[in-house]
Amino acid sequence: MHEMAATENILSIALKAGEENKVGRINKINIELGMYSGLLPEFVIKYFAIASEGTKAEGAELVFMDEPVHIKCNSCGADSEIFKESEPVCPICGSSDFRMIQGWDVRVKSIEAD
Ligand SMILES: [Zn+2]
Repeated sequence: MHEMAATENILSIALKAGEENKVGRINKINIELGMYSGLLPEFVIKYFAIASEGTKAEGAELVFMDEPVHIKCNSCGADSEIFKESEPVCPICGSSDFRMIQGWDVRVKSIEAD
């Protein structure tokens, strides 16, 4: 159900942006997907097809871009970018005591429309 809620969120943001820009049809939605968001794009695409029926975004293509994960290490204080690993650690000192600054959320980056 995680994907369902995220999909509805993506759709409502895209439709709102479409309305603000007075577009006719939304053709494409570019989405930044945090690597730790836990969302599976194929499910989002499936739910989107259902949720967007009858809206201006019906049939829109969803393009997912991996958003890198940024962490701030609590041990050495370094800001780093890490890539998906099962057990992420600070690349500078190897500590697993860090705060995730970015990389777990889903964002609509832009839409393409007529
Ligand atoms: Zn560190």
